[in-house]
Amino acid sequence: MPALSELQQNAVRELLRASPVAVELGERFAAAGYALHLVGGSVRDALLGRLGDDLDFTTDARPDAVLRIVDGWAEGLWETGLAFGTVGLMRRGFRLEVTTYRAEAYDRTSRHPEVTYGDSLADDLARRDFAVNAMAIALPDWKAPEAFVDPYGGLDDLAAAVLRTPGTPQDSFGDDPLRMLRAARFASQLGFHVVPEVVQAMTDMAGRLEIVSVERIADELSKLLCGALPRRGLELLVDTGLAAFVLPELPALRLEIDEHHQHKDVYDHTLQVLERAIALEEDGPDLVLRLAALLHDIGKPRTRRKEAGGGVSFHHHEVVGASMAKRRLKALRYPKDVTAAVTLLTELHLRFHGYGQPGTSAWTDSAVRRYVTDAGDQLTRLHKLVRSDCTTRNKRRAAALAGAYDDLEARIADLAQREELGRIRPDLSGDDIMALLGVPAGPVVGRAYKHLLAVRMERGPLPREQAEAELRAWAAEQGP
Ligand code: ATP
Ligand code: MG
Repeated sequence: MPALSELQQNAVRELLRASPVAVELGERFAAAGYALHLVGGSVRDALLGRLGDDLDFTTDARPDAVLRIVDGWAEGLWETGLAFGTVGLMRRGFRLEVTTYRAEAYDRTSRHPEVTYGDSLADDLARRDFAVNAMAIALPDWKAPEAFVDPYGGLDDLAAAVLRTPGTPQDSFGDDPLRMLRAARFASQLGFHVVPEVVQAMTDMAGRLEIVSVERIADELSKLLCGALPRRGLELLVDTGLAAFVLPELPALRLEIDEHHQHKDVYDHTLQVLERAIALEEDGPDLVLRLAALLHDIGKPRTRRKEAGGGVSFHHHEVVGASMAKRRLKALRYPKDVTAAVTLLTELHLRFHGYGQPGTSAWTDSAVRRYVTDAGDQLTRLHKLVRSDCTTRNKRRAAALAGAYDDLEARIADLAQREELGRIRPDLSGDDIMALLGVPAGPVVGRAYKHLLAVRMERGPLPREQAEAELRAWAAEQGP
């Protein structure tokens, strides 16, 4: 939990970095007779020391006035948000969004929030989702003691790492049910705890999510998944029942605890695989890998069979799971390449099963080759997914599986190298050799070719004249 003094230091450092741009903009608004505040996520992130290059502002100026004020100052402008009262602009590497005060106005049955402008900062902050997102800093004089506006105790909530709504959660979620998902998203992204009354409202009102557009839902899901603690966000979705409206396949995995405890809980296994996969990421959050980890076993509930001996089987769950993953990601309107990659990874996650296990024969080169070509550009992710899929507590078994996968990766590397070498040709072709030596096709050409191949392997590619000289020298050595 960050101390208040630490939050203050963060904010000062971050605001000093952003202030030349923010202060200049504030001065322009003041000169035109309008107010301007840094607001929302930007204030929160400044306090947390994680302010990026996105700055959000709120103002009493209507969008047409905002456009006039930034004219000639903005280095780039986008008006896509104009219908929602937002003017976006670039200035010295910062992306700025200036939004006119909103008044409380959501059509409770529509899929998109309706926009009505308000006249006060207080009303604007009151309609924001969480107290930590309802703070503002007045510009241009942000160092003035009264510049910091925090009507709902957002600073205390930040220090305590909790999420609560400015008003009652019932009113807030009634106005915009997406806020329930945002709570789970911030739990993952910031590691915050959602206060019990908000969790209760999420549980009671989960069904309201039905009126929210899938684009907004998927956007929050992706942000949740790419957060620091996706397990926390996902558990919140499942525990409140929200998951049924986002990713119903996830809570369905909980049914997999069987009465004899012969099979481990697939839901818990899935969350472990997700965390293990995250630990293998090299380059920041990888949405495709995280989705694949989350969805790789979703075919299990549908394929579960009780076997005669008392065991449980999930035959072809990877095939069933792949088509379920495809359908779900399509419904959530994920980009085609994301859907295709996650589907492929789900389908291939079991292929490795049996590799190098005692009693099974080793894979042939062609099986290794097929594994590589089937995975295509997803091979690196497949390695990570399969390694993460091993969640057994049996240390010896875990080590054996990791060892077998090391072996497979070594064979893939070895095969790649051999095939790379296999593609190497001498600097002169058989036709060149026949023409240069004036001999017909026959064993001499074969021997010359072999010699030139050995030279090529030894010394790398040679210029044409050197290759020809090499051939002549070899021919001279052969005698008449
Ligand atoms: P991020 O930029 O990481 O998505 P953020 O908190 O900045 O996080 P935005 O979607 O950029 O989220 O929104 C900016 C601010 O607008 C939020 O901090 C919050 O104050 C307000 N806000 C956004 N969406 C909603 C919503 N659905 N209901 C109420 N307030 C919202
Ligand atoms: Mg933002």
